[in-house]
Amino acid sequence: MKGIYLAGNFHKTEKAIKTISPSNGEIIDEVSLAGEGEIERALGAAWEGIGKEIPRRLFFRLREVLSRRAEEVAQLIAMEQGKPVTEALAAEIYPSLSYIAFLEEKGEEFIRDKDMPPEEPMFSGRRGRLIMEPTGITLVISPWNYPFAIPFLDIVASIFASSPVLFRPSSMTPLVGLKIAELFQEAGFPPFSLQVLITTHGDAERILREPRVSTVKFTGSFEVGRKIGAIAGEELKKATLELGGKDAMVVFEDANLERAVNGALWAGFMNAGQTCASVERLIIHHEIASSFLETLKEKVDKLRVGDPLEDGVDMGPMVSENQREKVLSMLKGGEVIAGGKPIEGKGFFMQPTLVYEPPEDSPVWQEEVFGPVISIKTFKTEEEALHLANNNKYGLTASVWTKDRERARRISEKLEAGVVTVNDHLSSYAEPSAPWGGVKGSGLGRSHGSFALQGVLQPKYIMEDFSRRKKLLWWFPYGEKNIRIMLLASRMLYGKGKLKALMELFPYLGRLLKEVGLSSLVSSLGRLIGL
Ligand code: NAD
Repeated sequence: MKGIYLAGNFHKTEKAIKTISPSNGEIIDEVSLAGEGEIERALGAAWEGIGKEIPRRLFFRLREVLSRRAEEVAQLIAMEQGKPVTEALAAEIYPSLSYIAFLEEKGEEFIRDKDMPPEEPMFSGRRGRLIMEPTGITLVISPWNYPFAIPFLDIVASIFASSPVLFRPSSMTPLVGLKIAELFQEAGFPPFSLQVLITTHGDAERILREPRVSTVKFTGSFEVGRKIGAIAGEELKKATLELGGKDAMVVFEDANLERAVNGALWAGFMNAGQTCASVERLIIHHEIASSFLETLKEKVDKLRVGDPLEDGVDMGPMVSENQREKVLSMLKGGEVIAGGKPIEGKGFFMQPTLVYEPPEDSPVWQEEVFGPVISIKTFKTEEEALHLANNNKYGLTASVWTKDRERARRISEKLEAGVVTVNDHLSSYAEPSAPWGGVKGSGLGRSHGSFALQGVLQPKYIMEDFSRRKKLLWWFPYGEKNIRIMLLASRMLYGKGKLKALMELFPYLGRLLKEVGLSSLVSSLGRLIGL
């Protein structure tokens, strides 16, 4: 049995859950479930670290530990979640390494204190300062489909920003979650940095309501995301919600056909289609549809489905029997032109599937399937393509496939999605500086890049005035003169008739010098003459 990670050590508890291999349905191990006492200890340990800067060399060490243990981690991901080892390396471990390196190189610039000289002439001579500060513990709740990279990036960003993390992995992939703890432990991170607890859903909600938790980074389904968002709203916590997707891939008649077919194949079936940004809707120009589909179907039939730990396997199992049943139940409407069946035997394998021309309002076209299924529709005009792509509750990522740069730009700007790629799909996840997140039902806020840091920090603005003035123009006592001065100043600085307003302000010069100061007057004149 594997223990939870608490204050720098692994602890076994009385209750445990089982984790199951999707390749054969057998129990891999048992993992301790945190109780009330452990949750309180984890919160206490994390609270110790609020605002404490972690030595930057530890991030270098973490990178070194992860790259050295990459194969072991990738094999565990393959065993517990089911994606092939190559994919675990390419889509989970490589982006994690690259993100740590990005933070080491660029992170400081986003979180360091900044001078912000006031723009308003009345405040000229004052000093403005911006501090980005952590205000509490970050709760990371993550899904099973990328059990390593998704929480890892959130955790690293939050700890980099001096906000300790309480991480609750998916109960489907707890071993991978605890592996993250092992890496942080080996890299020598202080015990307050990271706590990894397997909890019930009820306890996860209670942790979110805890006053010491200031931020939640949730990745998961639309339905649970709304629930988490509602709690965060009620308790006024910062929330980043990375939710489901129903990505559209729009292929124009001038696209590089072979590349587009290979792209659809990969982005539709990698991770057995269990990726938030999988191509679930393929929207093809009618002139190329038949040749496109013929080649795609040939390649789909040749995909090698099997044990993700074995060499030469392209697609592993679905994560669970439930998930497979849910996906199979959604194959209604449209013509199944490839696959469509479970694969008999041990494990939760399913054939990669193509569904042709389902009705626009059918669940397979509208709802997130989250399995190895691509639905296909054809279009004649750009407007039709955009309508098909945008007429959906989700908006995570989308892609345009064409050789025409103008068209690519035009369509990208009109697609309702948080990320758009041209002649590629979902790869921008591995660009560490790029924001990741969606619009509409796909969520709120952004992760990755500097956006992940902003997501856990609160800006604090400090304005300093060390002038000797005893009173400011807009303080008490109020009177007719104040009204007159404010009206003239508003006109002079921001309205019409500036010079006339300036002349009319002359009689008040003495008071202005006393109550706003010379530097504000000079700065106001500068603005007046456009300096
Ligand atoms: P899920 O919403 O069922 O669960 C997500 C996490 O929340 C899991 O750890 C789960 O145990 C936990 N959870 C569930 N109910 C909870 C509750 N009431 N309180 C607290 N925690 C609770 O999603 P899933 O099945 O694990 O993952 C698949 C979903 O995640 C898909 O919809 C997929 O599109 C989405 N996803 C989105 C992104 C993204 O970047 N936008 C990335 C990966 C996955």
